Amino acid sequence: MRNLSIALLFSTFAILASAQPPSHFDGHTWWDYIKIIADDKMEGRDTGSRGERAAQEYAVEQLKKAGLEPAGINGFYQPVRFVSRQIDEKACSLTLVHDGKHEPLVLGDDALIGTRIIPAPEVKAPLIFVGYGLKVPEKNYDDFAGLDVKGKLVVIFSGSPADIPGPLAAHYQTLLERWKVLRAAGAVGIISLINPASMDIPWSRISLNRTHPTMDLDYPEFDETSGAQLSVTVNPASAEKFFAGSGHTFAEIAELGKDRKPLPHFPLAVSLEAKTRVETQKVESANLVAKLQGSDPTLKDEYVVLSAHIDHVGIGAPINGDSIYNGAMDDGSGSALLIDEAATFKKNPEKLRRSILFVFVTAEEKGLLGSKYFAAHPTVPPKSLVADVNVDMFLPIVPLKVMRVLGLDDSDLGDRAREISQSQGVKVQPDPEPLRNLFVRSDQYNFIRHGVPSIIMSVGSEPGSPEQKIFKDWLTNRYHAPSDDLNQPVDFDAAAKYEEIVRTLLIDIANDDHRPQWKQDSFFRRYASEN
Ligand SMILES: [Zn+2]
Repeated sequence: MRNLSIALLFSTFAILASAQPPSHFDGHTWWDYIKIIADDKMEGRDTGSRGERAAQEYAVEQLKKAGLEPAGINGFYQPVRFVSRQIDEKACSLTLVHDGKHEPLVLGDDALIGTRIIPAPEVKAPLIFVGYGLKVPEKNYDDFAGLDVKGKLVVIFSGSPADIPGPLAAHYQTLLERWKVLRAAGAVGIISLINPASMDIPWSRISLNRTHPTMDLDYPEFDETSGAQLSVTVNPASAEKFFAGSGHTFAEIAELGKDRKPLPHFPLAVSLEAKTRVETQKVESANLVAKLQGSDPTLKDEYVVLSAHIDHVGIGAPINGDSIYNGAMDDGSGSALLIDEAATFKKNPEKLRRSILFVFVTAEEKGLLGSKYFAAHPTVPPKSLVADVNVDMFLPIVPLKVMRVLGLDDSDLGDRAREISQSQGVKVQPDPEPLRNLFVRSDQYNFIRHGVPSIIMSVGSEPGSPEQKIFKDWLTNRYHAPSDDLNQPVDFDAAAKYEEIVRTLLIDIANDDHRPQWKQDSFFRRYASEN
């Protein structure tokens, strides 16, 4: 799971139905697969690493044992090329210029240079504050109306005004959509001021991560920021420097922004000079794709995708003497589930009309990149993908009484998930925090962008319950830490029940007369008509 942080405050809907024990899973075979995938020998499965390759080889072996057919490009593999970028900070500088006076910024303390936009070696440009920096045609909202940003660096307060609904705001805040608007307006780069009211992690930790390499797909078609020369993120504690002489203050902006109120727009009195240097490296990895063939003469050429990411974050800074970020739950748990489901279909064959595609994507932790590539270049015809059931860190660490379903009200997949969960005695809970848009934060998002109805489910909890605290503690202590390893408490019955629900859902989608449909009022339906 990428950049996920959950405050588990929510309400539940749904009725408790009669409980039925799961019949195909025991949780232990699933955990046995994780024991291999998240072993220290796999070194945290960083994208393109030897540990990731070893985990992939193991998965392929198991898929073969389960009798699945290869459905990649080279057998089970769909190769994907990446470029990694690392900022060479010693060779970089950022300087504010005001009335001919130069004020150098301290990299790491005041600001940091991003590498998702490839920085130009030298940039000198005036600054203009453009509020939230959004253009949302659906709401007739335009932060750029009447402003001349040509040749300038736009300074943006991160966030969105209150009258833009969450999914729409999240959509237009993606780098792809944002840069489309800025490129058209002639801007040269983006300076982001973090909203202090919505900081997930303190600046010290943001700053610590700045020298880690970032990764991107190494294909021109995925270049979303051509023409952009610089992206800088500013420590809110240093943001006031940018407003000197402008007649406004950052304090004033932050005060308005914390309640998502309208923000003013104005040229800043300072300009910025940047010198940058980035080291790049080519990286190769692959998605794995396997097929369980359906039997219907026509429908067998349609595919229900079951996806999980096999990569994790690799080896990093040691915590309590442990530097291997094993990713047992994130997402060893999902990868193991795919293998376990495949093995169970072999043991207990089921008549399937449509085919099931098992997709182990890579580079999820680098920005959902493997799934981005797969969704753009599926190894089966694009229109044949009928649904994506994504499994990422489903956290069977408490009994499964509540199933959190993201995308619950967006397509009829949600209705099916609700019925099946309830038939297993499990309550269903919609996205507890719609404003945070968790639905677009794992691999299902790339299927959604290509119009494929998608869902992601995980073990949930009642608000205020002891289970809620267990999840919160897990996220604080183990999420993206070396302690997400094999030495952690697991509820095998919860895992088994979850797997049973996934199996039933896959069979249901595979055998239904109709392929899943987006709901008329779902925000995400727009992508189905675009594609
Ligand atoms: Zn993760």
